[in-house]
Amino acid sequence: MVDKLIAQHITAHAELFREGEAGDSAYIIESGRVEISLLRDGHKVVIAELGPGDLFGEMALVSDGTRSATATALEETRVAAIHRSQLDAAMDDADPVLKLFMRVLLERFHEASEKLHGHGSTARHPASEAYREDLDRAVENLHLRDELQRALQQREFVLYYQPIVELISGRIAGFEALIRWQHPERGLVGPFEFIGFAEKHGLIGGIGNWVMDEACAAAQRLAISLGDNSDSAPFITLNVSALQLDEEGFIDRAGRSLDQAGVDPQRIKFEMTESLLLDDPERAAAQLAEVKMLGVRLALDDFGTGYSSLSYLHRYPFDTLKIDRSFVMTMLHSSDSMEIVRCILGMAQGLMLDVVAEGIENEDELSLLANLDCTYGQGYHFARPLPEAEAFALLRR
Ligand code: C2E
Ligand code: CA
Ligand code: CA
Repeated sequence: MVDKLIAQHITAHAELFREGEAGDSAYIIESGRVEISLLRDGHKVVIAELGPGDLFGEMALVSDGTRSATATALEETRVAAIHRSQLDAAMDDADPVLKLFMRVLLERFHEASEKLHGHGSTARHPASEAYREDLDRAVENLHLRDELQRALQQREFVLYYQPIVELISGRIAGFEALIRWQHPERGLVGPFEFIGFAEKHGLIGGIGNWVMDEACAAAQRLAISLGDNSDSAPFITLNVSALQLDEEGFIDRAGRSLDQAGVDPQRIKFEMTESLLLDDPERAAAQLAEVKMLGVRLALDDFGTGYSSLSYLHRYPFDTLKIDRSFVMTMLHSSDSMEIVRCILGMAQGLMLDVVAEGIENEDELSLLANLDCTYGQGYHFARPLPEAEAFALLRR
């Protein structure tokens, strides 16, 4: 957790810190002995004698208060110092609930030790700013977890659909399903506010299953509504988190979504981001091969933002690359972005992959991409993500 501890040598009888001083470090004794004492009515009161492995001065890590005791080396002593900033950095990454527990426990401990040593006020300290923030975040998170679970039961999620367009003809080739949360008080909540959280707290499996069920059912509704033309019905692409793939029984569950909807798997495409390929490329390749056996197609989402090497792409059974929005957005002004887009398109052609450019917002971006032989695009220029009925109605225009 705390990566770099700073070793310090203290000569016999030297003080590490003195009661009443400001402090910002705690210490772990590696060798030697340390005496902890207080000054009461002019007399030294020894409250502890510590040896190797003991930790002291820890209150300085959590409060800006002053040292409540004096630490003196009894002999030649070696300690490892932990600075408050090191703990803060580690705490920043910690789970908010864990963080809150830490603060509460340390605060109680502080109060108890003050009472015990009979100095200072036993009254509760006004809660610090940091403590308040941690408390708010922890409570918010506890709520969000419950709320997301409830949302799943109460069917508060909805899928919006954004058309994916063939650039030369303007024909709608498919739709990307994008989740929204119809929150009873907050209104429509976007995925950035809960998908990452759901992934972190083990809720993405349930949400992901709902997305698969719903997107497959919508794809079938669409095919049926198009009647005789159903052979050329647009595909539906849905986002699958890398964590979902790791869940026991994912393939069976996905197969069930397809069967229940009665949809032709060819009409369904799963989008996954590069993060999937980073940890364990071999395992990812095996998992993706299994997904392909379902008969669905695969797209690599947000392409260009991760670290996977272009030359490795042929190892994976992707059908489509989606060029990340950040390149499309800057391509007109940045020759670097332009080169990346050109390079992705060239390579995709070699690998016989379809390419979808994401985030097309204007005519200039559209014509540039069309000139570069990019086949498909998606973006506000064509349409924003829309409720199902509105999105599918675009087909009749
Ligand atoms: P994404 O998969 O990259 O989805 C595209 C995002 O770009 C969508 O944001 C879409 O509304 C937005 N977008 C589309 N065209 C434009 C444009 O022209 N300009 C700009 N500025 N933005 C555009 P959205 O719907 O907020 O989704 C955000 C992310 O949340 C998605 O990024 C995806 O990673 C995740 N997500 C959405 N739905 C699901 C889901 O059902 N499951 C999972 N696991 N993740 C989802
Ligand atoms: Ca996507
Ligand atoms: Ca994307």
